[in-house]
Amino acid sequence: MSPDPTTLAAAFDEAYQRAPEGVWHAPGRLNLIGEHTDYNDGFVLPFALDLGVSIAAARRDDGMLHLRSLQAADEGVVVPLEGGSVDGWAAYPAGVAWLLREHGIGGASLLIDSDLPVGAGLSSSAALECAAGLALCDLYGIEMDRRELALLAQRAENEHVGMPCGIMDQSASLLATDGHALMLDCRSGLSSQVPFAPAEAGLSLLVVDTRAAHVLTGGEYAQRRAECEEAARILGVPALRDVKDLAAALGSLADPVLRRRVQHIVTENHRVEAAVGLLRAGAVTELGSMLTASHLSLRDQFEVSWPEADVAVEEALRAGARGGRMIGGGFGGSAIVLTAADRAGAVRTAIIDAYAARGWTAPTIFEGNPAPGAHRVS
Ligand code: ADP
Ligand code: MG
Repeated sequence: MSPDPTTLAAAFDEAYQRAPEGVWHAPGRLNLIGEHTDYNDGFVLPFALDLGVSIAAARRDDGMLHLRSLQAADEGVVVPLEGGSVDGWAAYPAGVAWLLREHGIGGASLLIDSDLPVGAGLSSSAALECAAGLALCDLYGIEMDRRELALLAQRAENEHVGMPCGIMDQSASLLATDGHALMLDCRSGLSSQVPFAPAEAGLSLLVVDTRAAHVLTGGEYAQRRAECEEAARILGVPALRDVKDLAAALGSLADPVLRRRVQHIVTENHRVEAAVGLLRAGAVTELGSMLTASHLSLRDQFEVSWPEADVAVEEALRAGARGGRMIGGGFGGSAIVLTAADRAGAVRTAIIDAYAARGWTAPTIFEGNPAPGAHRVS
């Protein structure tokens, strides 16, 4: 958990000429399986990563929000807690603060630090919102249920950033626990902890940042959502999660594109439930084939994969990995690979060589380990 709290507190001191009252941390998340199922009221299975956003913070009595990030090129942003508008990165923490105002928070100074790659499908945006939300609640002694805080952070991203994200990222960051993945029902918001400790099973979960930039506010994500809504409307169900008979549903859709979308969502929900069964039975290794099946479905049915992710998965399998898949919304970001720990080196080399042979930017590959959810550090 690298943003070091002591260094961050010292940086806060320098930036604001006073000591922070505390440091809070919220992890990024890695979704094992269940992709594009969240906005179809379905299931997801993320875990909290050992990378995330840390925030040093202190109250202010002038009703202002001072926001700075060690990762931002600018000098920081000052906005009234009353509300206002702000562009860019500051909209995430400001949006959370504006929504928390009615719960009784006052002004605050925040200094943000992070070791999460941005836009790599690891949800740095939710980590930022959740760290800010937790810090502000704690500073002002507001006891908010974590599910409620997750909903508030999601609303901040929807309304103040303009990103129509689901509830998965914020839930994972706030509710996941160490050594577990979080089975989340995106309709009810109910979740349960599922044991997930790859290292104990002699496995390594590699995250391959394919370095292909994604633009999530681009039209593709919104288009997939619209297609799913359209299919649900034609099928007469509230959401694709409610499709019980896949064959019958496919038979009543004339549009081949909508048929492919429905095929992915319905089978992906089944894969999440199957993956939970495997993990509960201690069969972590078997998760691999489930990941690969998810990838093929995302590539061929949902059509959101991209060449760098396809090559990472293919080469990993060729080098003996148990399985792998693209993660995130698609068209860029990361892939994950599950491999026996003693094959991880060979798998990495195979992917790196395959990228080099194609003249692509070298991927960044690191091991993703389950870690605790958001918490106060000091
Ligand atoms: P992801 O959540 O997959 O990383 P998003 O596009 O949803 O990608 O969110 C990334 C955005 O979140 C960045 O462009 C930036 O505005 C904001 N952000 C994330 N981490 C930081 C940080 N450490 N400092 C400032 N802004 C950040
Ligand atoms: Mg995000």
